[in-house]
Amino acid sequence: MGELGGFLRVHRVNFDKRDPRERVRDYKQYFHTQPEAELREQGGRCMDCGVPFCHEGCPLGNLIPDWNDAVYRGEWRQAIEIAHETNNFPEFTGLICPAPCESACVLDINDDPVTIEQIELAIAERAWASGWIVPAPPRERTERSVGVIGSGPAGLAVADELNKLGHAVTVYERDEGVGGLMRFGVPDAKLEKWIIDRRADLLAAEGVEFRCGVDVGRDVSAAQLRERHDALVVAIGSRVHRDLEVPGRELEGVHFAMDYLYQRNRAVARMEGRPAPEPQIPISAANKHVIVVGGGDTGMDCMSNSLREGALDVRMLDVYPELPPTGRHETTPWPLAPKRTRTTYALDEGGERQWNAEVVAVQGDGRVQRVLARRVEGSSSRDLRPVPDSEFELPADLVLIAIGFSHPEHEGPIDELALDKDARGNVKAPVYATSSDGVFACGDARIGQSLVVTAIAEGRKCARMVDRFLGGSEPLPPPEDPDAHFIEHQAETAGSVTMSHPLPAES
Ligand SMILES: Cc1cc2nc3c(=O)[nH]c(=O)nc-3n(C[C@H](O)[C@H](O)[C@H](O)COP(=O)(O)OP(=O)(O)OC[C@H]3O[C@@H](n4cnc5c(N)ncnc54)[C@H](O)[C@@H]3O)c2cc1C
Repeated sequence: MGELGGFLRVHRVNFDKRDPRERVRDYKQYFHTQPEAELREQGGRCMDCGVPFCHEGCPLGNLIPDWNDAVYRGEWRQAIEIAHETNNFPEFTGLICPAPCESACVLDINDDPVTIEQIELAIAERAWASGWIVPAPPRERTERSVGVIGSGPAGLAVADELNKLGHAVTVYERDEGVGGLMRFGVPDAKLEKWIIDRRADLLAAEGVEFRCGVDVGRDVSAAQLRERHDALVVAIGSRVHRDLEVPGRELEGVHFAMDYLYQRNRAVARMEGRPAPEPQIPISAANKHVIVVGGGDTGMDCMSNSLREGALDVRMLDVYPELPPTGRHETTPWPLAPKRTRTTYALDEGGERQWNAEVVAVQGDGRVQRVLARRVEGSSSRDLRPVPDSEFELPADLVLIAIGFSHPEHEGPIDELALDKDARGNVKAPVYATSSDGVFACGDARIGQSLVVTAIAEGRKCARMVDRFLGGSEPLPPPEDPDAHFIEHQAETAGSVTMSHPLPAES
């Protein structure tokens, strides 16, 4: 383990965040990891608990005390091996995971938890920079093929796992680039997109075939794909928006958050010289009063983008009450992830959040001009009660609806393959196999909207079931060179992600 009693001597040091006044003028990552010496000290705070609750808190079951100890000893190469044992993409989770592992850290009972997420990111970035993460294709192929629909974290993880087992994997993605919501929802300030490209190029060099610009159900039918492959995985995410059902919803200037975020992520891509379609109906926050409806990650990402575009002001309306910023709510005792009011990056950059505020109407003359709202009481959507005579009005030129997603799109693969659905409209696949033989489902499409870490875990477990279905339960021999992960990276050997179709017009 790390330093005996290190947690008594060393205090937690968080990510180093850039000055909000500076970072709001660009689209670069808004935080950095601490220098190596500090990270090693932080790793030494891990107590190597007899029962490491952090394993349990992480959907991937990451071997956190082991990598903390490796980092404390300066054994970074060993640390990335440990990280890759349970997580295909530690650089993604190191950047944007809300870190349920830290909430489950035993130190969180009466102190600050170990900086697990920051250490994970540092391990991954050091491994990439040192050339330790290189293509390691399987030595033998099984002559079985798998089609994966969707290239979000679930689709990427299932593809990576099945390819490693020797199956030929093709990923079909309707957007122009891979990554799902990590590319088109999450802003570059949280996750710069070259980080996704870097990993996708590695998977391609290992043999995964990516076909971007293929909308399954439109460009090719799911039935055709089922015939083409020995197994099919549906990893299409949960993309049906919850709508704001109030008078005035139809006014110009009222949009779903994801329509705005797709446009912003594509605009940043173009700024950086990557091809991306121009919007047919541009949505801009520049010089506008912006109201964001909904207080989650999606809303925060809308806020940060609006501020970067030069909005006059950005106000988020959240129906729920403010929770204490520290301590734990009685419904989420340790080691559960706590309900806690967090000051997130977008609020630091100048956005405002209003609690207990429910939108009752959107008004304007063809175009939105104001939002009518009222105060509500209650702590869940089931017991919200309006406060009498509490209505108020806010100026609004742009309203972004960020109140979540209800289930995956049914038109397309789900309807074509006549897959059974659960009560919430997700694909019914209790152990990843759906109601159609040889068709599997994972990620948000199976469990509803979740997290990147959960989606990766879903992809990994689904791959085991697909492999079993294909009869490949015997472990395949390891790659030829047992040290293959650590060969100097030869850029020219890396494959690339191909576009099967020209860029689609954005709707
Ligand atoms: C704005 C926003 C911010 C978020 N921020 C965070 C965060 O900070 N941390 C975190 O952990 N989680 C975050 N999340 C949640 C997280 O991104 C998702 O839970 C995760 O991406 C789900 O992964 P997935 O692979 O199941 O689905 P998705 O990421 O949705 O990927 C599904 C893919 O399938 C493709 N697809 C769909 N239908 C078809 C079809 N018919 N043919 C071909 N391709 C198709 C889609 O284009 C997409 O690429 C955020 C979500 C949003 C919306």
